[in-house]
Amino acid sequence: MTGQGTGLKPGEALGILGGGQLGRMLAIAAAQIGLDVHVYTDEADSPASRVAAKTIVGAYDDEAKLAAFAREARIVTSEFENVPAATADALVAAGAIVRPDPRALAVAQDRFDEKTFLNSMDVPTVPFAAVNSLAELEAALSRIGTPAILKTRRLGYDGLGQARLQSGADAAAAWEKMSGAPAILEGFASFEREVSIIAARGADGSFARYDLCENDHAGGILSSTRLPARASPAVSAAAEKAVRRVMEHFDYVGVLTIEFFLMADGALIANEMAPRVHNSGHWTIEGALTSQFEQHVRAVVGWRLGPAARIADCEMTNLIGEDASRWAEIASDPSAHLHLYGKRSTRAGRKMGHVTRLKFPPT
Ligand code: AMP
Repeated sequence: MTGQGTGLKPGEALGILGGGQLGRMLAIAAAQIGLDVHVYTDEADSPASRVAAKTIVGAYDDEAKLAAFAREARIVTSEFENVPAATADALVAAGAIVRPDPRALAVAQDRFDEKTFLNSMDVPTVPFAAVNSLAELEAALSRIGTPAILKTRRLGYDGLGQARLQSGADAAAAWEKMSGAPAILEGFASFEREVSIIAARGADGSFARYDLCENDHAGGILSSTRLPARASPAVSAAAEKAVRRVMEHFDYVGVLTIEFFLMADGALIANEMAPRVHNSGHWTIEGALTSQFEQHVRAVVGWRLGPAARIADCEMTNLIGEDASRWAEIASDPSAHLHLYGKRSTRAGRKMGHVTRLKFPPT
């Protein structure tokens, strides 16, 4: 069952970098199949550490603490893509197997490198250009046109570090918003809807994918996901081809997500890739035979992948900020599966939990 001596057995420790809600749901899934989870995070009292067997709180560049982490957790995965390259290097130097491959994490950390990489895999994106000054922004605008979006290349998520440009007159204000950080100008996609593909690749090269997810965003943050997506089988097949290609390239092990814009003519344009479990896959906890979290754990610890079939139509709604104060009402609704992440404080825009509703039979 395990991959030629590199896999973990029940009772052994899986390491997770990061202490947020994705780490928490990975830890719960790992515990269900008998693994101990050791979390490494720079945050005390994190959502993941409160369901893990052990937590090391340390900076991501603390080589001594990372080495102590790697001594007990032979296989280490991550709940976020912004793992510094030096962190992964320190873990590997200490003898850990890091899955997925840090090269996939590195590409996904930089929006320019990511789009360049996707294009090299024959996966289309919007037109884009690297921007390091107002003059470069103006030059890029004359090539790409408006509307357009300026984003920081690194460390942006949930619509943070972004500025929309309706015309060239918006250039100075948009560049100002980047605070001097290297940026990328992207053409604006007038999409019909947004979809994502979530797939897994095992250590043995096996592949499984979930049904295409249809996603709604509000203010740059995912608000809800529904299954089945309103998309043709040809669109699903194109998304599968893209994710397979990316995974094969990295000899990838684990779950990987690609977010796309679906255009009116059926064209799929990739927005970004996430080398990890994804918010648009939370429906799989109740709605699929194997959740994305268990699937990722199975892959990285060298077990066979589980079946990824969807068992119902699903609607997942994020509980953002004060939405979570409705927990008692949601918990008493028999059609709702409530998930709360145990975050100690509520902030506007912060993902506090989610709710999934299933409808049988699946269409
Ligand atoms: P991101 O931070 O790149 O995931 O963007 C968050 C959301 O902003 C996306 O899910 C889209 O709804 C919107 N968005 C980002 N980039 C573009 C683009 N180039 N064209 C149209 N909408 C975009």
